[in-house]
Amino acid sequence: MWAIILHGGAKDIEAEEADANREGCLIALAAGRAVLERGGSAVDAVEAAVRQLEADPTFNAGYGSALNADGEVEMCSAIMEGAEFKIGGVTVIMGVRHPISVAKAMLEEDTIMLAGDGARRFAAQMGLELCDPAELVPPEQKATGTHDTVGCIALDETGLIAVGTSTGGLDGARPGRVGDSPQAGCGFYADNAVGAVAFSGDGEEIARKMLAARVMHALDPDDPERAIGEAIGHVAELEAEAGGIVLTADGRFGWLHNSREFAVAYQSSAHAEPRVYLSKQEERR
Ligand code: ASP
Repeated sequence: MWAIILHGGAKDIEAEEADANREGCLIALAAGRAVLERGGSAVDAVEAAVRQLEADPTFNAGYGSALNADGEVEMCSAIMEGAEFKIGGVTVIMGVRHPISVAKAMLEEDTIMLAGDGARRFAAQMGLELCDPAELVPPEQKATGTHDTVGCIALDETGLIAVGTSTGGLDGARPGRVGDSPQAGCGFYADNAVGAVAFSGDGEEIARKMLAARVMHALDPDDPERAIGEAIGHVAELEAEAGGIVLTADGRFGWLHNSREFAVAYQSSAHAEPRVYLSKQEERR
């Protein structure tokens, strides 16, 4: 079997943004699903899905990322696979089109994370797409003041689980700031024996409370959502917001959020139709 779940960020989605969020998630899901259907790897499926989200200015990742206090785009991204626990991460990277592809290239390195100029130089050495940092800012870019990070988890037919995150971080953040999204055990984690998880939300609080690690330790294959709910409870105590997706080793989905909205799409070989929701409440209706 194969399965894939992704999210477009823990945030407020206004009525006029609803269609763009739904469609953007479905397009990304289709890209990831296509890889899995043809027998491709979970790592490639995650990369394919996240690249679509990065290319869509609806989401705060890649093109259309949040601007830091200097008005610049600094991005973070990571990818992890659950067989050998390989991790690739880039942080405070500027002037690359697809941070997730740079993170994926890092999977083959001993180093698990590169920052700033070193990360961009690595991208250049790998022949990945560079750009002028200003090209990542759409003409009508506006500060939203809400969260957004994208994330995706895939399980392929060999049983490999992979997770990826990509973000432009928080609007107006101090230049050089690193949130939870590129940090294993905080914004994401994957282990083939257990499953995988990805978070979005207030990165400092998610990192302080190591949300991904908590979920991995508490994940009940029969009730995957409970571990997410408990983890979110830890940031809610700090009056912070988060949303998380989880996929168990046997392909069960779970997701929850305490942000107002959290766009999520998922599909597996057991369900012919993709599902997309802007909030948990909508899924429960
Ligand atoms: N967690 C991300 C960060 O702190 C932002 C977000 O998900 O909104 O960089």
